[in-house]
Amino acid sequence: MTAIHFPDADYARRIERARVEMERRGVGAMLVSVGNDLPYLTGYGAMPSERLTMGVITPSDATIVVPGLEAPRIVDRGAFAVQPWGETEDPVSIVAKLANGASRVAIGAQTWSVFLVRLQQQMAGAEFVDATEVTRPLRILKDESEIDLLRRAGSAVDRVVGRLRDAKLSGRTEAHVARDVMEMTVEEGHDVATFHIVASGPNAASPHHEPGERVIRDGDCVVVDFGGRLGGYCSDTTRTFHVGEPSAMYAEAFAALQASQAAGRAAAGPGVAAQDIDRAARRVLVASGHAEWFIHRLGHGIGLDGHEDPYLVEGNEEVLEPGMAFSVEPGIYMPGEWGMRIEDIVVCTEDGRESLNNAPRDLAIVE
Ligand code: ZN
Ligand code: ZN
Repeated sequence: MTAIHFPDADYARRIERARVEMERRGVGAMLVSVGNDLPYLTGYGAMPSERLTMGVITPSDATIVVPGLEAPRIVDRGAFAVQPWGETEDPVSIVAKLANGASRVAIGAQTWSVFLVRLQQQMAGAEFVDATEVTRPLRILKDESEIDLLRRAGSAVDRVVGRLRDAKLSGRTEAHVARDVMEMTVEEGHDVATFHIVASGPNAASPHHEPGERVIRDGDCVVVDFGGRLGGYCSDTTRTFHVGEPSAMYAEAFAALQASQAAGRAAAGPGVAAQDIDRAARRVLVASGHAEWFIHRLGHGIGLDGHEDPYLVEGNEEVLEPGMAFSVEPGIYMPGEWGMRIEDIVVCTEDGRESLNNAPRDLAIVE
């Protein structure tokens, strides 16, 4: 996990805000382990291992319980104490003690169940609830420095797209192109490349296709969806390429997709319900006769996690607020034949929206 560098005061402020949310929900202790709640609150990410790392936040204290051998990794930010445990100690009992008899305990959503089971044994009578209730209202609203990291990550993947538009794709395997995409993602400024979908020809009809040994050839569409992490924050973009000129039918579908994606972006803004952005994009594909092949939600929130709240999906009436960041990514997938998708990360601003991805959204014709 790459370290995130914000001023120490930011972490103190986040922990204080978490305490406000805890009090509002009657939560006496919050326990967060692997996952991104702990780095959000402290700048330190737990190593996912059988040795327990756990942040314990109570109304009066904040402590990271950490394997002694990993304690040197933690940067002291003044906002929390560090309690290393030795190889012969039981970290679960240390956590239980720090929780100080709380009757309602928020547990991190990604905490390994083995630790939760042991905590439940040692904290008999405590009610455990999902810590996402506490951290969600904080993490869903990005501050300026978080948006700046998302913006930098977005520009970096845009530069990769620019390089891909000049690249020759035919004659190479999807896996080969995917390796190049990962390399370029790091070269352009990410700390790490996290995922890469390169789906060609009929494979493009599978939205989460795993790049394989298929050789890209003339006449193929190629959907490239990829991203990485910069300062802990994620990028995620999709562009569609075509080796040689597309058929009239494909070009027509792509024009509808572009209009749909533009309508989704244009609909985003403060006060708009998440589902209405999905609807705005979907409506365009209903009109063009392609909606049946748009088989997923329009988008997902993004931040420290690649997928997080808010989700742009029918049924989500949550209203957007400035600082929320999410993808707008309609796609059309013709099973066994072809696919296409366009994806940008968009941030809701005071008076509208800002797209963090700005590479050309047209169908890129490549060799
Ligand atoms: Zn994506
Ligand atoms: Zn996405």
